[in-house]
Parts: sequence; structure tokens; C-alpha cells
Amino acid sequence: MEFIDVHSHFESIGSEIEKLLSSVRIRVVCVATDKESSLNIIQNGLPYAFVGVHPSCAGSDEDISWLNEIAAVAFGIGETGLDPKYGPLEPQEKIFMKQLDIAEKLQKPVQVHSRNAAKKCLEILGSYKLSRVLMHWFDQEELTKEVNSMGYFASFGPALLYSKKLERIVEKIDTSLILTESDYPIQYTPLRGMSGPVLIPSVVFKVSQILGYKFGDMAELIADNAERFLGRVNSTNAPTPSKA
Ligand SMILES: [Zn+2]
Repeated sequence: MEFIDVHSHFESIGSEIEKLLSSVRIRVVCVATDKESSLNIIQNGLPYAFVGVHPSCAGSDEDISWLNEIAAVAFGIGETGLDPKYGPLEPQEKIFMKQLDIAEKLQKPVQVHSRNAAKKCLEILGSYKLSRVLMHWFDQEELTKEVNSMGYFASFGPALLYSKKLERIVEKIDTSLILTESDYPIQYTPLRGMSGPVLIPSVVFKVSQILGYKFGDMAELIADNAERFLGRVNSTNAPTPSKA
């Protein structure tokens, strides 16, 4: 059985990531938040490197010419997006769009942070010809239909283990678009502060329970979705999951 963590913030090879990766077979996609973490991820040769500027860093990282240079060798662009928690959206939008320009030009996948700003994010994303988009930690139930029709992936993390709203979203998102993530190093208080990719099998299990699929089939389907998001295959190979 294979698992995928499509969004975690490891920045260097060290005992932490090695311990985690040796304990369970979970592939990890490493996502940056600013210039420093982007360079770290590339220089340390971390797997599936996504480079970019998180909305919380958009104010301090206005000149993103450095991103042009490293985006070419990265796997994708992110974490980028919008979040009113970090200040006015207008300056964030500028940085977001600059990153989407690069993603469009290079036809790289994008990871989008859209907390309380998913509508605006989708509006902006829709004006680009992007190859693949992931709405990371997607939690705006009323926009599920739009995400499905745009064919964007949506990732669910450990919060799914206790959030009824996320459960409802999982029910509505096309199963071919569901991915799993930990958003490491975020610690989940209702899960007694646990964090990291070790939680991924539990998230997959929860998705299988919600949709009524067998655990193994669900894991296979999500791994297949990840292959498409990462651009390693174009069409689905996963068998239709059977009901548990
Ligand atoms: Zn993140």
C-alpha cells in the first residue's frame, strides 16, 4: 500500500524526515513558503520540491525574480495563494499572480493556499492556463462545485479526522481529485498535538469510511490521483474502488 503526503514543509534532510520516512512508506511532497525555504528545499535535494511564496510572506518577498531561476528546476510552484489573515489581499494578489505567470509559462503544477479567500483564488486561477492545480487544505464547502468543474485537486489533512465540514466536502469532491496531506509541521490540537506524514494512513482510512470504499482501494485511488497531480501519468490507472 502506498500513501502520499502532497503538502509538508520539510526544508532539510535531517533526522526528523529520515525517521519519518523510514517508519512508514509514505511519499512526501515538500513545499516552500518563502525564498529561504525554497532554496533550502532545492539545495537539499528534497523530494518533489515546490517553490514559492506563501501569502504570509507576500509582504516581505515582493521581488520574486529569484523564483524564475529556481522554478525551472523545481517540481512545481507553491505554496502560493491568498489569505486575509495575513493582511490586505491586494499586495498578496500581485505576488500570487506573478507565481501563476511562472507556473503557466513552465507548465508546472501549483499548490494554492486559499483560507477564507477561495472564491478570489478560483477567480484568479481561472484566468490562467495552468496544467494542474491543488487547492491545499480546501475547506470552503460552498465552492466545491467550482473546484470539481475546474478539475482542481483538493487535499485533506488530519483535520478531517475531527471536522464535520471537511467530511461533507470529501463527500462532494470528485474522487478523482482527492489528495491527502499533513501540512507538517502543523500540530493538531484535537489529535493531542500529533503532526506529520505518519497521520496520512489515518486520513486515507477516514476518506474510505466517508465514501464507503475499501481502505486499500482508497489508498490506491489517492496514490493514482497524486501521480496525475504530479504529472507522472496523464490518465487514471486505478481500478474503480469497491464498496467496503
Ligand atoms: Zn502549508
